[in-house]
Amino acid sequence: MLRALGRLVLPQECAGCGRPDRALCRRCTALLGEPQRCEELTQHLGTPEYAPHQRPPLPTWALAVYAGPVRHAVLAWKSGGRPDLAAPLTAAVERAAGAVAQIEWPTTEGRVLVVPAPSGAARRRAGRFVVGELADALGRGLAATTGREVAVVDPLRRREGSGHLLGAAARSRDRARAVRCRGRLPEGCACLLVDDVVTTGATLAASADALRAAGGVVVGAVALAVTAPPGSGVIDLSGPGKETQRILREVD
Ligand SMILES: [Zn+2]
Repeated sequence: MLRALGRLVLPQECAGCGRPDRALCRRCTALLGEPQRCEELTQHLGTPEYAPHQRPPLPTWALAVYAGPVRHAVLAWKSGGRPDLAAPLTAAVERAAGAVAQIEWPTTEGRVLVVPAPSGAARRRAGRFVVGELADALGRGLAATTGREVAVVDPLRRREGSGHLLGAAARSRDRARAVRCRGRLPEGCACLLVDDVVTTGATLAASADALRAAGGVVVGAVALAVTAPPGSGVIDLSGPGKETQRILREVD
């Protein structure tokens, strides 16, 4: 009886490929592999085209290309229809902490702050703050692998009416204003940003600006997936070789 009830409540089909299985089948879970650097695939996070006034590159890791089964799974989780995806997706980010922890930390003292990218108020109210869940997972993983004290904090908010600025190739002055940090951070503390999907990188770049203006040192960003620009000839984002090839064809 209880088991039958469980089947009614929890979808029993993989959100990535639709096969009857767990929330995310073994093959689709394997697509969320070792984190790979991806800032150079984005418009706003990589090496600046126009020196010297622009910001330095932000080391950014993604676990997968945002396509195929990974895209299906992330969308299903964000929509609120598949809360059973929280476990496999946050576990993937928690595992990624080991690779991310290899960065050069600006200081070995003080707490490391893990900061989710800003989410809309409506999403928070609806209890679908998935980026917050990812940040919690990365925080757990970092604490376990580095032995450092890690705090997950949520000080970033989008400014009203900034949505269109983030979508467009806005000027850096506008981007810097698109996200604000509520209050000051401990001066010089190391901050890691977390997001679900990186596309142009505008939101993460504005988030990094806001954290720096509040006193933080932004050491990098971590996302579940990155949108590969068409024709970019990317990527070895690990995962099973054949599957990655198939996804790259899909992206093209
Ligand atoms: Zn699957």
